[in-house]
Amino acid sequence: SDSEDHVFKVILLGEHGVGKSSLARIFGGVEDLHDVEDAGNTYDRSIAVDGEEACLLVFDIWEQDNTHWLHNQCMKMGDAYVIVYSVTDKASFEKASELRIQLRRARQSEDIPIILVGNKSDLVRSREVSVEEGRACAVVFDCKFIETSAALHHNVKDLFEGIVRQIRLRKDSK
Ligand code: GDP
Ligand code: MG
Repeated sequence: SDSEDHVFKVILLGEHGVGKSSLARIFGGVEDLHDVEDAGNTYDRSIAVDGEEACLLVFDIWEQDNTHWLHNQCMKMGDAYVIVYSVTDKASFEKASELRIQLRRARQSEDIPIILVGNKSDLVRSREVSVEEGRACAVVFDCKFIETSAALHHNVKDLFEGIVRQIRLRKDSK
């Protein structure tokens, strides 16, 4: 249907503690809610991008039970992916690479939008991954790149708008 055409499933991937839930809550506008389950949530919101509404369904469920089954489901179900690492945690950056490879394997010939996100850019003094490293990684992975700070709300809006633009670009070229 026409309405289903405009609902895009976005899956957040990444190591524990990198800021997936923080980013998802900002998107969902529920930062102040204390009863939000930490285990896994889905946020459903319409945003206007370039004068046109788009509905995103953002899944913060990657760590919900850490089973192979759930991880396989996540790899299969997304219209777009946000792979998050923390710029203060080199290991989480390396994990992001692994996730990118897993995703490529799961979705072989499909051209799905992927955005690599270096979060916690506000923590200048404990930075372990430079902007250049992040950008270079995204080039190799053939995906978009953005640094965000969930703590300062920096670039979070741009991140989700960027996803919508990436999805539209691919739809328009079909
Ligand atoms: P998740 O495990 O990937 O869902 O990560 P969370 O969203 O639960 O965040 C883990 C911790 O990092 C929490 O204490 C957050 O408050 C903190 N955090 C998340 N994003 C940022 C950020 O951009 N800057 C800073 N300084 N802390 C952050
Ligand atoms: Mg979380």
